[in-house]
Amino acid sequence: MATILAANPYLVEATCGQVSWQEAVRRAIREPAVLLAALDLPADLCGHPQKLQSVTDQFPLFVPWEFVARMRPKQVDDPLLRQVLATDQESEPQSGFSSDPVGDNQAEVLPGLLKKYAGRALLVTTGACAVHCRYCFRREYPYSLVPKTPANWQPAIDYIAADPSIEEVILSGGDPLMLADSSLAWLVEQFNAMPHIARLRIHSRVPVVIPQRVCETMLDWLRSFRKQVVFVTHINHPQEIDDHLRAALQKLRQAGAMLLNQAVFLRGVNNDLFTQQSLSTHLIAAGVLPYYLHQLDQVQGAGHFEAAVSEGVKIISQLRAQFSGYGVPKYVAEISGQTSKRPLA
Ligand SMILES: *Cc1c(COP(=O)(O)O)cnc(C)c1O
Ligand code: SF4
Repeated sequence: MATILAANPYLVEATCGQVSWQEAVRRAIREPAVLLAALDLPADLCGHPQKLQSVTDQFPLFVPWEFVARMRPKQVDDPLLRQVLATDQESEPQSGFSSDPVGDNQAEVLPGLLKKYAGRALLVTTGACAVHCRYCFRREYPYSLVPKTPANWQPAIDYIAADPSIEEVILSGGDPLMLADSSLAWLVEQFNAMPHIARLRIHSRVPVVIPQRVCETMLDWLRSFRKQVVFVTHINHPQEIDDHLRAALQKLRQAGAMLLNQAVFLRGVNNDLFTQQSLSTHLIAAGVLPYYLHQLDQVQGAGHFEAAVSEGVKIISQLRAQFSGYGVPKYVAEISGQTSKRPLA
């Protein structure tokens, strides 16, 4: 690691957490060749150049240096690299895989507002993410149609204000923490003013890939929310949890947020007992409860990440035999048109 670090100033700064989160987003790697060079890996690892181009034209590679700093150099099968490296495999058609596997489109009550489950409304606040996960089920979501500024959110806010059955608003995306803190502060203010809203849930992977996102201006609006905040991190592998992330998670807890994690069950990343044990252990040590382990949604391009449900069921039952109950995530699948996620184990 040392020689590669020394050769790469961005990686050195990333390792030390020295730049603002906005700057970390600006500097993020967008070229497969740059990522492979940073890790001292062969340039042809992504497969056929033209096929790769058609993949990245549609869903570009995007990964911050802060996340790359947690990858191991020269390891083709690094579990963090595997989550973000675009390859020509994604261009292969897979039967049963579609562009909207979870029925988001049919759950939409207004552009960007999904109401699928009782008591909860999910606001797709932005299409932007701080990392492009190759298994993402929303890789083909029509983000360009989503309102992304306070003025444009007003219809969704009015809808939530007028529906007292909604107790919990879920900020999702894309990734809500890609928004400016001023926009997020505005949203929090709206929900503070609605007596029927008891909880705000934030689903985000930004603090995982760019821990310095948990900055003072973010903590200000988080603390200004007068009800419970539930913060759901998206950590798939224990190697993602380093000191920077641990410190960021601690700040979130100190600001009063309840921390839960959801992971996706991914072949070649976390589909083995040892990794799941280690993930639970590291999450709990960092003050985060394992909430969900999601079976992969069958989105076009992600077929090579699919692991069998029977494999997941076995791992969960082994985990259950060893861990405190709260260390075992709920293994679930998202089924289009159902009233909740479906338990698999
Ligand atoms: C997953 C999801 C939720 C939240 O479900 P929980 O089981 O409460 O975590 C809410 N709305 C939508 C559209 C979802 O996909
Ligand atoms: S951060 Fe979440 S929404 Fe964004 S690409 Fe990754 S899985 Fe998809």
